Amino acid sequence: MATGSAEQAALDPRRGRDHDHPVDGIERAAEAIAGAKALLVTAGAGMGVDSGLPDFRGDEGFWKAYPPFREKGLTFVDLASPGWFDDDPELAWGFYGHRLELYRRTVTHCGFDVLRRIAGRAGRSFVFTSNVDGQFQRAGFPDDSIVECHGSIHHLQCLGDCGIGLFPAAVAVDVDPASFRARPPLPRCPRCGTLARPNILMFGDGGWDGTRTAEQSHRFRRFLETAPRGTCVIECGAGSAIPTVRLTSERAAAGLGGTLVRINVREPGTPPGHVGLPMGAKDALTRIDSLLSR
Ligand SMILES: [Zn+2]
Repeated sequence: MATGSAEQAALDPRRGRDHDHPVDGIERAAEAIAGAKALLVTAGAGMGVDSGLPDFRGDEGFWKAYPPFREKGLTFVDLASPGWFDDDPELAWGFYGHRLELYRRTVTHCGFDVLRRIAGRAGRSFVFTSNVDGQFQRAGFPDDSIVECHGSIHHLQCLGDCGIGLFPAAVAVDVDPASFRARPPLPRCPRCGTLARPNILMFGDGGWDGTRTAEQSHRFRRFLETAPRGTCVIECGAGSAIPTVRLTSERAAAGLGGTLVRINVREPGTPPGHVGLPMGAKDALTRIDSLLSR
């Protein structure tokens, strides 16, 4: 996702050290959540790690999950490029097809259930996620209260631009586990038969169909405009490398006058007055839940 210079400037490293002792932080987080009349959940890649999804952090982390790409020297950034669908469709669909099947099989961790209970108690809620895995829908969050800012692997688009728009990824992709190459037939457009691609925003991606995400963003703006003062923001596993989620959390908390609870193992720093928890999402949410249900 492209980020402007204003966003880069907001990434002040001096703000990176302002976080709580975990125990105090859990209590402050539980207090803020208990008093909130609405909830915004924001999430990045760290949210999926506790469900057993691979961590794409750094080339080593990526290659551990996808060994055949180490031999080819291909990184996550290299592979997350729309050019592969023209140059080597079986490689492109090997990578995305494997992830599609993985995300379909994944059982969401109990931190999602905690968030759903908190959201239910608060009354109103919305989710903003950079994850393309559809895990919030799987965990029972309503589809019309979610923004997937980088799109979704569960929706496809036609590479021939035939006008069909987006269509569900109602296909099984057969991936050779040794080579991570997809075996034909590859997913195709049901209208014109051209090769299809996932509706995921890739790097250098001028062809991404952003209409679904734009509709989600429109509903999110309406939520922000009408959410009560003191809406609590819980952010899970969102890193600063691509800061879209962290900036969304900080702006929403500032705009709504609510507390930001930032759960992040490596980068828990927050603007002053908010709560940073240097922990995994499942662990932090479980501990917050046990305080709330006392
Ligand atoms: Zn088509």
